[in-house]
Amino acid sequence: MRIVAIVRRELRLHDNPLWSGHAEHEIIPVFILDEFNQQEHGNNLKSLFFAAVHHLRSALSQIGGRLYCIHERQQEQFFAQVRPDVVRWCLDWEPHSRQRDACLQRCLQRLQIRTETLAESFLVELPDKPYYLFTRYFQSYWNPRLAQASTSLQPAPKTLRTPSIAFPEIELPRPESLALRFWHSDESQVRQTWQKYVRQHLASYEQRRNFLHPGDSSQMSAYIRCGLISIRQLYRDARDVSATYTQELAWRDFHIQLLYHHPEITELELRQDWQRFPWSRDEQVFQRWCTGQTGIPIVDAGMRQLLSEGWLPNRVRMIVASFLTKQLGLDWRWGERHFYTHLVDADLAQNVANWQWCAGCGADAAPYFRVFNPWLQTKKFDPEGSYIRRYIPELRQVPTAALCDPQRLREYQVDYPPPIVDVDQARKEYLTRVKRFLGRP
Ligand SMILES: Cc1cc2nc3c(=O)[nH]c(=O)nc-3n(C[C@H](O)[C@H](O)[C@H](O)COP(=O)(O)OP(=O)(O)OC[C@H]3O[C@@H](n4cnc5c(N)ncnc54)[C@H](O)[C@@H]3O)c2cc1C
Repeated sequence: MRIVAIVRRELRLHDNPLWSGHAEHEIIPVFILDEFNQQEHGNNLKSLFFAAVHHLRSALSQIGGRLYCIHERQQEQFFAQVRPDVVRWCLDWEPHSRQRDACLQRCLQRLQIRTETLAESFLVELPDKPYYLFTRYFQSYWNPRLAQASTSLQPAPKTLRTPSIAFPEIELPRPESLALRFWHSDESQVRQTWQKYVRQHLASYEQRRNFLHPGDSSQMSAYIRCGLISIRQLYRDARDVSATYTQELAWRDFHIQLLYHHPEITELELRQDWQRFPWSRDEQVFQRWCTGQTGIPIVDAGMRQLLSEGWLPNRVRMIVASFLTKQLGLDWRWGERHFYTHLVDADLAQNVANWQWCAGCGADAAPYFRVFNPWLQTKKFDPEGSYIRRYIPELRQVPTAALCDPQRLREYQVDYPPPIVDVDQARKEYLTRVKRFLGRP
């Protein structure tokens, strides 16, 4: 049998269902360049993604395979020429991907070619109806299904039989970005990084995950996004070591099912009572947030890390998102788009759902009255100020106590802006606005 395997987000040999049946069948891996994603994705994600495609291409050629690279405009012609028995690909839940798949299905139907879709990048298949409460999803859906689901791992194929096909291929993009300095694009290096994390840090994940040093969390999100490591591998290695870690993987699945059932949440607040909330649209304030010039050190450190490395820890994501939506009152969609453009792990479901969670308008969201105080968050999660000093050189000489106290920070003559808002005052104003809008006492 001749199988075409469309490579999308699963850029690895190990534990990849795209290669199943490789011992008996011809497998023709193909990467189809999608214009929409080219426009939509930021450079950090694209540079890691395409570096990983290049690695996969050479890994495949080392085992006798070949990755064909074509443009989406060429796909019908490609399938018509190759005439496979089956075309397979892994399901993707994003609204654009679903439209693209429907179009592909129609094309293959016209050509009378069978299709096979694989559920690959989540641990538990999507529920028929959406869940809005994480605890209920976790206890009554995710956990029981995971107990039944197979999490066995498929080894990487040692050989692959790909026939030689004369077809005009395209040159793949090779975008450069700073993020490539911080992230691996080769699956074997990624697996080593993960194994090292498991050996050295996973057992203390629950205690450390909110702190801000490398090693306090696994830093696997970009690799999950590009399929450089299998989600089942992470689950299997973590399940007996850290229940908290596997619960984070459940949050990921929870967000996927939300976007699947509510594709409109990329634009609209999930909670209807929040739709039409009068978010501020102050461009200048937004620019100061984006560039790390708000005068609140923990916020600025996070935003500068995002610009320089394409990543920031979850705790800091929550602090900067809460600050943007609550103390600055800006539209969560602006923050979401900025993150999406710069994150190396940019993932529509995770980004939108987390932004709505932070803004208080999403599923199981942080209640509107839970407003982080960034100065107190600094005291708790960056007690020595080392995270702030790493990303804000202007503050390197300032004593730690001043990094979490606006009055004391003002005493130092440094080239750093004063706070853009008084956070307590801004919190009060925000709460008044929300209560008025939602009609709460
Ligand atoms: C405003 C905001 C935007 C975000 N945008 C994205 C995004 O675009 N892409 C993305 O992958 N994650 C996003 N997250 C979730 C989370 O911050 C990252 O997954 C995490 O920081 C990645 O670091 P890690 O791999 O070290 O996580 P770890 O703490 O080591 O967790 C392990 C894995 O669990 C999953 N996970 C952890 N926390 C979450 C969470 N809150 N929601 C969903 N899955 C989670 C991730 O797959 C992560 O790699 C966002 C969070 C916030 C608050």
